[in-house]
Amino acid sequence: MLDVAVIGVGLAGISAAVECQKKGLKIGLFDKSRGVGGRLATRRVNDIRLDHGLPSWNIQGPHTQALTEKLLAEQIISPWKVAHSDSNSVDAWQTLETENFYAAPNGMTAIAKYLARDLTINRSFHLDKIIPAENHWQLHFKNNETVEAKAIILAIPASQAVPLVENFVTRELGDRLQSVTYEPAISLMLGFEELNLNFPWQELCLSDHPSFKKIILDGKKRSPQAQTLVLQTNATFTEKYLDADNLQPIAQTLIREIRQLLNLSQPSWHQIHRWRYALPDKTFSESHLYLPLELPLILCGDWCLGNGAEGAIASGLAAATYFDGR
Ligand SMILES: Cc1cc2nc3c(=O)[nH]c(=O)nc-3n(C[C@H](O)[C@H](O)[C@H](O)COP(=O)(O)OP(=O)(O)OC[C@H]3O[C@@H](n4cnc5c(N)ncnc54)[C@H](O)[C@@H]3O)c2cc1C
Repeated sequence: MLDVAVIGVGLAGISAAVECQKKGLKIGLFDKSRGVGGRLATRRVNDIRLDHGLPSWNIQGPHTQALTEKLLAEQIISPWKVAHSDSNSVDAWQTLETENFYAAPNGMTAIAKYLARDLTINRSFHLDKIIPAENHWQLHFKNNETVEAKAIILAIPASQAVPLVENFVTRELGDRLQSVTYEPAISLMLGFEELNLNFPWQELCLSDHPSFKKIILDGKKRSPQAQTLVLQTNATFTEKYLDADNLQPIAQTLIREIRQLLNLSQPSWHQIHRWRYALPDKTFSESHLYLPLELPLILCGDWCLGNGAEGAIASGLAAATYFDGR
């Protein structure tokens, strides 16, 4: 029997699991996907890594500050230049001031792998149902596995947690959880025979473009440099296609648009990924949610506090404080 089952191997779940393990608790860590890191997501295409989730890392508060120092010392991240623009003119993009961020040459999942290095991860474990039994929880996974645990930490997006906990929350709390919303995003990954883009930045955030939120020169993270680009669409554009069955026509539209904008050749390949829950928009405004039941059930994630990676880590750590002195 586990002391704590942690569901979700993103920054929040890993932070919670590491803390629980430090307290000597017997933990099990489960994720529905085959990878590690959740929205710290890296994909390999033709042996080239591309970050199609969080593209870069920056210091947003004390947790990301402390972690940045460790990640730099371990050479997991390196400097990366980010610019912002409210202009859609390529000429204006040539003279932008840049901010110091960090990118991960081996992909953003390397950050999650580093943090989770002492944890055992159960992959392809999609939690389907939670059932209270005498003195423990029964967790039922879609792969037909059942796990018993004395406590559960759910470190997954609020909207995905709601169906799992709806039998255990009051209507008012259920409504509060339902009121958490996320900005969606589409990531388009492009590979070229040759790509010669020279700007003072490596990642550009656009505030006023009809479709693009970010243009990321992702290939410049890699050694040797790869001929790749990653584009992220903004929430307004993405919402129109949130339920589209086929994303390929959208990929073609975006490819036409970026080719025209940056005067690019036809990419030799592309992949597209839709994120229904990219960044919290309306948050829960508390560090975590402890449900006062007979058996501990705690919810955490970036949706609790917002503030991206910093908020996700803070929320995971806050969830683990429940076990202090127990
Ligand atoms: C395209 C994109 C761009 C972003 N840009 C920025 C940015 O510029 N700045 C910033 O600060 N942040 C950004 N973010 C957000 C940032 O990545 C997140 O805030 C942070 O990584 C969230 O961590 P988390 O642990 O809360 O959730 P996640 O990383 O989402 O982890 C949750 C995990 O739970 C798993 N899971 C869900 N349901 C189940 C289930 N039923 N059973 C088992 N496992 C389950 C998922 O597979 C996932 O691995 C971006 C995200 C995306 C996708």
